[in-house]
Order: sequence, then structure tokens, then C-alpha cells
Amino acid sequence: KEAFIDLSVSNGFAALPSNFYTRLMPTPVPAPYLVDANPAAGAMIGLNHAAFSSKEFIETFSGNQLLDDSQPLAAVYSGHQFGQWAGQLGDGRAILLGDTPAQDGSAGRIELQLKGAGATPYSRMGDGRAVLRSSIREYLCSEAMAALHIPTSRALSVIGSDQFIMRETPETTAVVTRLAPSFVRFGSFEHWFYNKQYDSLRILADYVIAQFYPELVASENRYHDLLVEVTKRTAHLIAQWQAVGFMHGVMNTDNMSILGLTLDYGPFGFMEAYDPRHICNHTDQQGRYAYNMQPQIGHWNCYALGQTLLPLIGSVEETEDALKDYQLQYTQKFDELMHAKLGLCTAQAEDAKLFDTLFALMQANHTDFTLFFRKLGELKCARPETDAILRDLFIDRAGFDAWAIQYRIRLIAENSQDEIRRLEMHQTNPKYILRNYLAQVAIEKAQNKDYSEVGKLLHILQRPFDEQPEHEHYAALPPDWANGLEVSCSS
Ligand code: AMP
Ligand code: MG
Ligand code: MG
Repeated sequence: KEAFIDLSVSNGFAALPSNFYTRLMPTPVPAPYLVDANPAAGAMIGLNHAAFSSKEFIETFSGNQLLDDSQPLAAVYSGHQFGQWAGQLGDGRAILLGDTPAQDGSAGRIELQLKGAGATPYSRMGDGRAVLRSSIREYLCSEAMAALHIPTSRALSVIGSDQFIMRETPETTAVVTRLAPSFVRFGSFEHWFYNKQYDSLRILADYVIAQFYPELVASENRYHDLLVEVTKRTAHLIAQWQAVGFMHGVMNTDNMSILGLTLDYGPFGFMEAYDPRHICNHTDQQGRYAYNMQPQIGHWNCYALGQTLLPLIGSVEETEDALKDYQLQYTQKFDELMHAKLGLCTAQAEDAKLFDTLFALMQANHTDFTLFFRKLGELKCARPETDAILRDLFIDRAGFDAWAIQYRIRLIAENSQDEIRRLEMHQTNPKYILRNYLAQVAIEKAQNKDYSEVGKLLHILQRPFDEQPEHEHYAALPPDWANGLEVSCSS
């Protein structure tokens, strides 16, 4: 007996004027099959995982069958890509099915979007599809980020099809179902601003405020306050990325969420051997979106958003006022996260030096970012002779020892207790992250029709702070073959 997909769906976004989107149906895929589905995301919308292997689930989340009352649509937006105005973009391969009540006790709603469900009027030269490889990457990373407590869109499922599409080589397609309260982007605002359609711009801003920032509805200059809030969320989001070594790879304004979520997973990566200039996107030759550029690019993107809100806010002064705290918000958040990463409870004047010395040492020694901070939690204040695991992450052992002396002095000064600090640091410094090679192993198995590794990896990444001794090797340094892995925009 097949389980029943009982989702009550409406479409709040469709209440916007018709120039905001195009209504259309997903394009069916031949013979869809389940690659993996995620119970945690299912629970967010009240979908029982018993439904996951049903024909109905697969047909629905491949786009082959519509949910009752669904009025699917693709939204229009524009954006700056790699710093250049790119004009109109839009949902070229994403189709919004509608929204459904969140099951978290809030009055909120969650939008369901199919990614890779066929061409739309905004597909430009694209085919409207996504390959299995990039779909698995998005699916795993969304959930890894959520488990790291970083704001993000979520992923319900990956449904595959043996239909081939052309990328660098032919690859099979898949459809990811993503969930978020909204997929509105900075680029959605830019679209109306650069087309000088200020009425639509105001309608969009009012919609976003009413739906997602209701506390601002009654404020005196709500557009200014919206920009303040989005600027803050963006600064905090990027501080959180930096603190786990996450690199987005394509921080174009059309990939920046108005809710401050991590959005549009493409050639992302997690920092392994620490190099602040690391570029995770092979296509980004200039390194515009390198790890150490992300904070300032976040700022740049907020300015791009501020530009579009200027006609609503009314003056350059007020717009700049709304943007002015980005740096402070970022620095404060990153500083707070760094203290937590080092297990420090107080803030002292010399801490910046302690952090900088550490990062310089990690860079010179190509120290694995995740392993180091995780192992640092094991350090014993009074027992330097137990530092072997940490020292092994540095070629320059004396350099590490010198830093560790300063670190110990700092810990002892605040009377830090080893066991308490270890527990706290292990709640901040993950043991398990989505290393590129781990995704690659799961992808290659899936390409050979073994989907077990996708599900297994999802499960591990959903508990990134747990020890999971049975999965120790998932936390180890990447194997040598992983050095040659390259991730491009091709998806
Ligand atoms: P991205 O930077 O990957 O988020 O995508 C930039 C723009 O290209 C967005 O408007 C996407 O919807 C669109 N796009 C990317 N890939 C495709 C594709 N295969 N078919 C149609 N549109 C696409
Ligand atoms: Mg995008
Ligand atoms: Mg993309």
C-alpha cells in the first residue's frame, strides 16, 4: 500500500503581480527513481519518511506529478555576476511548487522548489536541468550546513533519471527539492531597480517585510531597517562560513538570500589545508570569491542591495547609515566564533595576536582546518607532552610549541577547565564536514546506481559534532587522490 503525500500547498509568492514570475509546469523526466530523501527535512513539512519510497513521492518530487492546489511558477531576478552587471537571470531551472505550513510550531510557511525540473522563460542558453553530481552535492551540503547551525536552504530529496544531458561530458540528470521560507535574492531587488520599475520594487520590499520581517512593518523607515537587518544577517552568515571554513564559490548577487541563508550550492568547498587565498571554484580564476575575500564580497553585495533600496529609503545618507555596521557586525561575530573555537570564555586585548599567529602558522604548515580545531579541544592545560596529535598537523613543530605556550598561558589566565572546555569546543568545532572527496565517493557510487553512500554520508553530516567512532575515517585527512579534485561551475 502506497503512502500518501498529504501536503497542503498554496502559493504566497503567486499573490505578487504577474510580472514577478511565469506560471509553468515542470517538464517530466523519464523513469525517475529515488536517490535519497531526508527525514529531517520531511519532518519540517510534516512528511513522514514512510512516504519516501512511494511512487507518489518520486513522481511528485521529480516534477512528474503535481501536488493538489500547486500553482508552480518560475521567478524573475537579475544580478551582478563576478562583479559585472549581468542583466536578467531568473529561475532558469528552479520551479516553485508553493508553500506549506512549517511543522515547528511557528506560524511560518516553507516554500518547496524543484531544482532541475526543466526549462523556463529564464533559462537563457541553459537546458533547465541539473546533473546528478551537483544535485547530490547540494543535497548533502545544505544538510551539513544546517547541522552546523548555519542558516541555509534545506534539501528534501534527490530524484534521479537516466536521461543524459551534456556538460563537460554527458551526465544523467536529477531533481533536488529544496526548502526555504523564501528564495528571494538580492538580485530580485536589483531586477526592478535596474529596470526602473520602482512600483514593483516597492511591492517586493513590502512583500518581504510583511512576510519575513513583520517586526519592521510599523517602523518609520522600514526600508532602511530592512537593509540594516539584511546587512546584519549577511555579515553574521559570512562570519559563520569563515569559522567553519566554508567557501560558497559563486557569491553573485543573484545567489544572496534576502533572508541571510546560504543559497545556491554550486562549486562550494570546505577549507582543508589552510590557505586563506584558497579558491574553491575552478572557474573563478581571479579569485574574486576566494576564502579570504568572502567577508568583503558580502559587504559589496550588501552595497548592491542598498543601491536598489535607495529610491525607497529616500537618501544616500540613510542608505549608507543602514550599511555602515557591516564591518562591525562581521568582526564582532567572527571574533565571538573564534573565541568559541579556541574555547576561550573571556575576551582579552592580545587575543587578536593569538589568532593571527595561529592562522599564519596553519597557513605555513598547510594544516587541516577542521582537524586542527577539533583536536585542539583535546588539549590538556597542564600536559604539553600529550600534544602529539596536534603537533603532527605541523611540519614546524617548534612553531606550534611556541604558539601552544601562549595558548596555555591564555587558558590558565581564565582558569579554564580541560573537561568543560573540551565539551564546549566539540560543540563548536565539527568533526565531520563535507570534504570534496567524500562527496565524490558518494557521487561515483551513485553514478553506478549504488545510492547507499549518499544516505550514509547524509546521516554522518547531520551529526557533525558527535564522535561517531564507527565513522572515524570520514574525519581523517583526505587521501592523496583528493588533491587533484577540481570543482567547476558546471552543474
Ligand atoms: P548560478 O550562479 O549557478 O546560481 O546560476 C546563474 C543563473 O543561471 C541562474 O539564473 C540559474 O537559474 C541559471 N542556470 C544555471 N544553470 C542552468 C541550466 N542548466 N539551465 C537553465 N538555467 C540555468
Ligand atoms: Mg543561482
Ligand atoms: Mg546554481
